[in-house]
Amino acid sequence: IQGNSSSSNGGGNVQRSKSFAFRAPQENYTIQDFELGKIYGVGSYSKVVRAKKKDTGTVYALKIMDKKFITKENKTAYVKLERIVLDQLDHPGIVRLYFTFQDSFSLCKYSWMYVIFTLAYGLTYSSLIPSQLFLLLPSFAKLVYIYFDIIFFPFSFYIGEDMALESCEGGELFDQITRKGRLSEDEARFYAAEVVDALEYIHNLGVIHRDIKPENLLLTAEGHIKIADFGSVKPMQDSQITVLPNAASDDKACTFVGTAAYVPPEVLNSSPATFGNDLWALGCTLYQMLSGTSPFKDASEWLIFQRIIARDLRFPDYFSDEARDLIDRLLDLDPSRRPGAAPDGYAILKRHPFFKGVDWDNLRAQIPPKLA
Ligand code: ATP
Repeated sequence: IQGNSSSSNGGGNVQRSKSFAFRAPQENYTIQDFELGKIYGVGSYSKVVRAKKKDTGTVYALKIMDKKFITKENKTAYVKLERIVLDQLDHPGIVRLYFTFQDSFSLCKYSWMYVIFTLAYGLTYSSLIPSQLFLLLPSFAKLVYIYFDIIFFPFSFYIGEDMALESCEGGELFDQITRKGRLSEDEARFYAAEVVDALEYIHNLGVIHRDIKPENLLLTAEGHIKIADFGSVKPMQDSQITVLPNAASDDKACTFVGTAAYVPPEVLNSSPATFGNDLWALGCTLYQMLSGTSPFKDASEWLIFQRIIARDLRFPDYFSDEARDLIDRLLDLDPSRRPGAAPDGYAILKRHPFFKGVDWDNLRAQIPPKLA
């Protein structure tokens, strides 16, 4: 359940500043340059497709934006912010953006139909005297609208600045939890450690993800974690990420960004976003890895929110003391007390007994749990 519909993401006017050069270039490719494979997933404003570049054979995950929906729902700022932030992140635990492209082929391919339609329309009514032509304007405008809305709609997925992302062939962590029922503590420790490592990186850059959940934690073919979906990202005031000054002004009252089950209580009370938001979501995610379900599960969003606000948290008997203690601390009602939130918070978080034995300097060299 995406609950960010009424929120503004702080995208504002994120634009390319004069001195800013994108690392991931905008290429002149069209969808025809790729051999499209299976659909990896469908998000609220995009679909992600496996695509092999025909000339190089490189496989990407193409995030194809639903331009129509984005424009209609006023989400352009989100998309721009996701692109500009992702472009500047460089960490093995974060999905890499390789390039973007404007699928001009689709635009050209269907624009000839528009030309023919307009000519035919003009010819039909050319017998009218010029002073009567204005009578046709409303119906002409309506027809053009219908033409775009109905005839173009199926293709509008292919219009817009699409992103070529690193392909995560292992799927979502969510699917691993579902397939296995629940994860062992060793498996959960491995995944949680990789998430902590990537979160430390983005938090040190002054960026909050705001939608950490098992669906947005993807796995490589080998089984390592990559954080994906930066569509709710929030760069803080002193962030090291380049965003134009007027781009991050989203702390409106009643802002709710993220997904109901992982939203921290302070966000429901309209408090400004902090790094603690991601740490709460990490606590929920770790709980879900170990138990198979999120901690504040209920029949409706409203009931979930009641549970979150009341911190109605119950641990299954089989949770170890270490797991229980870590989740309990991450789910502290006070965001500044969550391990990881204070300036030296990550050192404390990494030293927690649950992570005993984790080799933080060689995380990516370790053998991941077997994929189900
Ligand atoms: P949301 O509604 O969650 O905001 P979105 O429109 O921003 O979604 P994503 O969450 O980025 O889209 O992607 C949708 C789904 O596509 C993901 O849940 C995931 O299953 C799949 N996916 C996204 N990126 C990749 C990738 N790089 N490799 C493989 N699959 C991916």
